[in-house]
Amino acid sequence: MKKIVIATKNQGKLREMRAAFCEFPVEVLSLAEVGKFPEPVEDGTTFAENARIKAGFYHEQTGMACVADDSGLEVAVLDGAPGVHSARFSGFHADDATNNAKLLQELERVGAEESPADYRCALVYIGEDGQEILTEGRCDGVIRKTPKGRNGFGYDPYFYVGEKTIAEMSLEEKDKISHRGEALHKMAEKLRDVYGRQG
Ligand code: IMP
Repeated sequence: MKKIVIATKNQGKLREMRAAFCEFPVEVLSLAEVGKFPEPVEDGTTFAENARIKAGFYHEQTGMACVADDSGLEVAVLDGAPGVHSARFSGFHADDATNNAKLLQELERVGAEESPADYRCALVYIGEDGQEILTEGRCDGVIRKTPKGRNGFGYDPYFYVGEKTIAEMSLEEKDKISHRGEALHKMAEKLRDVYGRQG
């Protein structure tokens, strides 16, 4: 059976991405299931460039078909920050808690109670033969200072869509409205030409 490696070490992303590929007659593997690898230098200036860097790097490392996501949060009152720097917003040893603390600090600094914001996602698939497919997605919302919910990951407790934060949504609800959900649905559509439907 053919294999696809989901090239991420982020457990939150992995959960959201796995489901999208289960319709195909392929074995879906996480990076950790394939082996231990170094990390690529993500020095692109756009989500698409960084997704391409990751997918290309792990495709070379594993020799398998790979799909990689690059994503992030853009906050209007912060001029689109943290953007492509979302994972390391609070520094080299950043985690979700320190990144969210930095987000609140930055809102404080500019004197904003809340701000329009969006999540962006670029997905790049590179097939065993080097065929490349790019899809993108976006989710619009509002960043508010009051966190709610325990699901999701990253900035989700502060990202409101209507009255609910993304951290209050189930995986299925998030998939329907999220940036990654949109990119994954577009990717699945394109991969039907590559793998066909199962069953
Ligand atoms: P990447 O691994 O460089 O793509 O980092 C993406 C970062 O953006 C994550 O570590 C999160 O901080 C943030 N991010 C991306 N997508 C989401 C999401 O769906 N929810 C919450 N935070 C996200």
